[in-house]
This record gives sequence, C-alpha cells and structure tokens, in this order.
Amino acid sequence: MSDLRELYQQVILDHNKNPRNFHEMAGATSKVDGYNPLCGDHYTIFLQVDGDTVKDVSFTGSGCAISKASASVMSATVKGKSRDEIAKLFDTFHSLVTGEGGSANAAELGRLAAFSGVSEFPARVKCATLAWHTLNAALKGDSQSVTTE
Ligand code: ZN
Repeated sequence: MSDLRELYQQVILDHNKNPRNFHEMAGATSKVDGYNPLCGDHYTIFLQVDGDTVKDVSFTGSGCAISKASASVMSATVKGKSRDEIAKLFDTFHSLVTGEGGSANAAELGRLAAFSGVSEFPARVKCATLAWHTLNAALKGDSQSVTTE
C-alpha cells in the first residue's frame, strides 16, 4: 500500500510540475472561471465541445499542488469523452475524494485514483474537485464563474 501511495504522490507532483493542457484555447466553445476561496485556487477552463463530445480541453490559472494536478489530470482524462462518460467519471471521482467510494472504483478511475488520499484531508476536497465543478459549468454552457463556497 505504501508503494501505491508513493506512486500516487508522484502522479500529483508530476502533474503539478508539468501540467497537461496548460494553455489558453483559441476558438473555445466555452470558458469558465473557477475559484476556491478557502485555498486561493483560481483556474479558467476552456472547452471545445462538438455535439456530445469534448473535443479539446485546456486550462490556465494557479493554486495549490492538489488543485493544479487535479485540473491537469482532469483535462487529460476527459478529452475525447462524451458528456455521459464525463458525468460518470466525476461521480466516481467525487466519491473517491470524499471517501464515500469503495476501493473498487480505483481501477476504472486510472490516474484519477491518485487523488484517493485527499479523502483523509476534507479541507482539500474542494481543491481536488474545483476543476471538475468548473468543467461541469462549462459543459452546461454556463459562463458565470464557479465558486466552491
Ligand atoms: Zn487548493
């Protein structure tokens, strides 16, 4: 289990240091700001949606390591997926970081499972889910900023 923890830690450190899809997007079909005032995390999520599918996703902004790594892993995970698939992933991810999910979820989550340790730190749940809440708003076509509080 400690090996797994170490691996998870490395995934988070890696994505924090070298965030994927970390840039603005020209021609985004939606763009939403997300704030987590508890921690000071602030990101903008850019989406290019074609019908039911997220063709491209990117983000900019800054915040703690958990929030940035989560936004990075989220962007890499949802690219090319349908709205339904993304909604299911978010449900599973949310259960994982709040500690409500079983360990059986880890396999289907892939890299997202790296955030399972967050469930031991309830104050960090909002850091881990900020990018996802912002993504959801963007998928719904909201242009208003998202705040976790
Ligand atoms: Zn944070």
